[in-house]
Amino acid sequence: MSQPTIKARSPKPPITDSPRGPAFEGLTVCRLCNAVIGPGVPIIGASPTERIQQFVIALYRHLAEQHRKESDRKEQTAMYLAAAIRDLVTLQHYTTDDSVLAAAIDAARAPVHAMTRKYALTDEQLQALIAEAIPASPFSKAIEDAAMPIARKIRDLLSEQGEFEHPAVKAAREASQGSVITS
Ligand SMILES: [Zn+2]
Repeated sequence: MSQPTIKARSPKPPITDSPRGPAFEGLTVCRLCNAVIGPGVPIIGASPTERIQQFVIALYRHLAEQHRKESDRKEQTAMYLAAAIRDLVTLQHYTTDDSVLAAAIDAARAPVHAMTRKYALTDEQLQALIAEAIPASPFSKAIEDAAMPIARKIRDLLSEQGEFEHPAVKAAREASQGSVITS
């Protein structure tokens, strides 16, 4: 397998097609050091899936070599999540009246939900969506004001935030916010 190329981020790194196949589109940039991670020279005849796997290996390697602490933490999180998901898929085969077990299942599920959520709607975005949907009239503002708390509640319920945030997720979020390093 070819070595992936890692270089410091330049203004617009050229992305060129190799004679062996098309280049990956777009840039993949490390959030920790801004390095642009290249996929390396594609293996001749490699399928798209194999090329993605090769690229992911390069991303693993960059973290392991350049960001040891984050890499170790990531591995710990991955192990924790793997165990939580194994518990979840096992426990899905049961119903339980045991509140302690039910709480344990939920505590395993909630962080997975929080981590895999794709979209986050802010109050402002919700407000804009509602305003867009309500026809202009002298009552628009009153309808928007009435709709907003309902929309916010549905968002918070489905995305498990605000009053519906799981205590374990909230504690982890607050702990990580306390130690966030801003660049
Ligand atoms: Zn990096």
